[in-house]
Amino acid sequence: MSDDGAFTYSGGKVAPGERQNIRYGISETYLGDPIRIPVSIINGERPGPTVFLSAAAHGDELNGIEVVREVAYEWDLSDLAGTLVCMPVLNVPGFLFQQRYLPIYDRDLNRSFPGRPDSTSAKRMAHRIFQNFIEPCDFGLDFHTSTRGRTNMLHVRADMSDDKVSRLAKAFGTNVVIDSEGPSGSLRGEASRAGVPTITIEMGEAHRFQRVLIDEALAGTDSVFAEYSLRETTAVRWPGWRTIITDDQEKTWIRADAGGIVDMHFERGSLVHEGDRICTITNPFKDDNTVVEAPFTGLLVGLLENPVVYPGNPLCHLVELDDVTRRVVEQEQSPEHAHHT
Ligand SMILES: [Zn+2]
Repeated sequence: MSDDGAFTYSGGKVAPGERQNIRYGISETYLGDPIRIPVSIINGERPGPTVFLSAAAHGDELNGIEVVREVAYEWDLSDLAGTLVCMPVLNVPGFLFQQRYLPIYDRDLNRSFPGRPDSTSAKRMAHRIFQNFIEPCDFGLDFHTSTRGRTNMLHVRADMSDDKVSRLAKAFGTNVVIDSEGPSGSLRGEASRAGVPTITIEMGEAHRFQRVLIDEALAGTDSVFAEYSLRETTAVRWPGWRTIITDDQEKTWIRADAGGIVDMHFERGSLVHEGDRICTITNPFKDDNTVVEAPFTGLLVGLLENPVVYPGNPLCHLVELDDVTRRVVEQEQSPEHAHHT
């Protein structure tokens, strides 16, 4: 931010009280046409933090696109204290092909940050984004979904050893936070290390809009805005229970030991007890089934969605809960309890 409260990027400036919807060039196609990403910068009349919201760094992960668009174009931001930098589709080349990676040599844009101006095409794109729209921010939210063919319950990934990141993660108000540093080259990891605390929100499946999850993510975003006084909103939300999953807790992707067609017996977010049958791997004749049991009591954070596996393919992501949390979740998921999502 400049002294006059304007948000500046290479090629433009957004003064307090102004909004700009721009298409920002980050590269060029084989035909020399610009590759441009949509960016909306909303600078509030009142001072406050500068926050980025980004989605579709993986081009087929769509849920977050709708979250960012609803914040930018449907929320009443007339009382905004601060600036929003909204980027609903970061990976435009991947988005056009509805695929995870940049089509050029299948590069992962989300392993190319902070980027470099004189390096590969992916790193040049990452650099344009990072330098103009990430570095000037005070913190950020990056929305993802599970990889194609899988789903996950809405959760936050954050480096909880960093106090500023931890504050942001808690403000989002999910039940589950997975504590990890963030891979090298990821937007979350590199932004946080560059002094822009960033969390990833993982939500559901690729290739579709899931309304329940989008609404939950909007509630989380609203809660973050309350925590940092960006809007006169309700309050920071408390999700009822919270578990922060660290490296010393048991968590594992359970893998298939047989090839086949999977009959899944639980939904994402379910609590399973040690020995429960999570799923059955069947053959075409249904006469030689492999039962997969829970090796420990825990929460099914991620699940296979496309029901076919080779041996070695992941079936579900199971994480252990401490006793207190487990009892709260048991109560919440008991049949007497109204319902859960
Ligand atoms: Zn992703």
